[in-house]
Amino acid sequence: MSKRTYGNEFGFQTRAVHTGNDVDAETGAIKRPITMANSYELPYDPTDMNWSSADGNLYTRNGGSNQKYLQEKIASLEGGEDCVVLSSGVAALSGLFFSLLKSGDHVIFSSVTYIAVYRLLNELFNNKFNVETTIVDTSDLDAVRKVIQPNTKLIHIETPGNPTLTISDIKAIAEIAHENGALLSVDNTFASPFNQIPIELGADFAVESLTKYINGHGDAMGGAIIGKKEYLDIIRAQAQVNLGGAISPFNAWLIMRGSVTLPLRMKQHNDNALKVAKWLEKQDGVSFVAYPGLESHKGHETAKKQMSPGFGGVLSFGLKADHDTHNKFVQNLRVITSAVSLGHDASLIVFLGEDDERQYLYPEEFHNGFFRFSVGIEDTDDIINDLKQSLEKVGLL
Ligand SMILES: *Cc1c(COP(=O)(O)O)cnc(C)c1O
Repeated sequence: MSKRTYGNEFGFQTRAVHTGNDVDAETGAIKRPITMANSYELPYDPTDMNWSSADGNLYTRNGGSNQKYLQEKIASLEGGEDCVVLSSGVAALSGLFFSLLKSGDHVIFSSVTYIAVYRLLNELFNNKFNVETTIVDTSDLDAVRKVIQPNTKLIHIETPGNPTLTISDIKAIAEIAHENGALLSVDNTFASPFNQIPIELGADFAVESLTKYINGHGDAMGGAIIGKKEYLDIIRAQAQVNLGGAISPFNAWLIMRGSVTLPLRMKQHNDNALKVAKWLEKQDGVSFVAYPGLESHKGHETAKKQMSPGFGGVLSFGLKADHDTHNKFVQNLRVITSAVSLGHDASLIVFLGEDDERQYLYPEEFHNGFFRFSVGIEDTDDIINDLKQSLEKVGLL
């Protein structure tokens, strides 16, 4: 813990700047240093040490100082009691599932989720560990109620969902979970805590890929689970110390630095994405646009209730064109880069073709192939003009 603490009497921007940072006790430097060491000096008599402890300074897989500084900030931004930061978003998700679930338990998860969640819960946990899993459209509350079982331990949702931007009602699903003795985890990566705080809406856990908006610069990987200390202690012991998903000090330091500007970047992402979505919606060559900030979006009313001040920087859209024209469109872009990942400073686009194995879980309009577009923080006009010149080149404008 830093000596100077920043509770909720301080605003989000102030906490993004200060929480977890402090004057370095040894040198007086105004930024805490990166500690690139994997071990810490032992006490005089180490024989009764708990070598699996995640508390003190022992070994960096048991917890490193840069990881701890970052955990302090992320816990504060997500409104949680405690946080564990791991090596990637997927390490956080798999660590959460591994630590909470045992054979015979039942999990319900959103039909639209990050691909690794689908693999973990639909192929690995059920086949290897005998965990029962049900995929459901969690934007439909009755559908969620219908699949609850006496052994339902966890509901895992992603909202907005990757890649269709489907919106699920966090507060309502938290109530359904709790009435039935289950826990709710929410993947908050697309919104970031600037736009949505699942724990305040009743979720037991928020999960973040720090790789995306929180780091924001496309140069580091990390993941976080935020929630109550009683669960996080278990997750730390199992997922970090024993499964070994620890984050490197350098990555933790980079994310600490990147996260300082999260609120400023998110304002620009929110603004740019809404403008781009509205522009795309007016183009004849565009078959559909999915963005929760658009009034035409099915989940817009729910999104307005739980997201503020904006709807994030990711949208999806399709072209009225064949497969190859989608590739040509990407090839012609000059500002926007063709790459996976999202939440970077730079605009990134990825063409998800017609043969995605999860197509059957997506709404109809996604079946002919579509783009997932992470709108960056460049000048709005440059992004729109880039889309425009490329639509012209492929004959769609
Ligand atoms: C990228 C992403 C993840 C996985 O995070 P990594 O840091 O790549 O492991 C999980 N959930 C969502 C919604 C994502 O976009």
